[in-house]
Amino acid sequence: MDNCIFCKIINGTIPARKVYEDDDLVAIEDINPVAPHHILLIPRKHIVNALDLTAGDDALVGRVFRAAAAIARERGVDERGFRIVQNTNADAGQSVFHIHFHLLAGRHLGWPPG
Ligand code: C5P
Repeated sequence: MDNCIFCKIINGTIPARKVYEDDDLVAIEDINPVAPHHILLIPRKHIVNALDLTAGDDALVGRVFRAAAAIARERGVDERGFRIVQNTNADAGQSVFHIHFHLLAGRHLGWPPG
């Protein structure tokens, strides 16, 4: 998508601190971290949000969760715990309309979220 900031990060026209990539997804450090570990897992495919997922994306979503768990293990935050968050539309605070999953860790994460 021409005007999508995450498509531009994925194709390299906007810089980002990549921490992982494979054929299906890219993981970057969030530029405005809200936890000591704040990684965004971004599928390469331009999907808007959870409402835009199809059955064909089921494996992709599983791939995202397994990659997030692998990053958490690598960073040694797996035992204390981490959170995977996907914001869809305004009330959830979605600001970039290319689906992404926040991996948050490194501090106690309150519940319910704000
Ligand atoms: O879930 P939401 O859409 O609000 O999250 C978007 C996230 O993308 C924010 O945490 C923001 O800091 C991050 N971002 C980024 N790099 C950009 C633009 C946004 O890490 N160039």
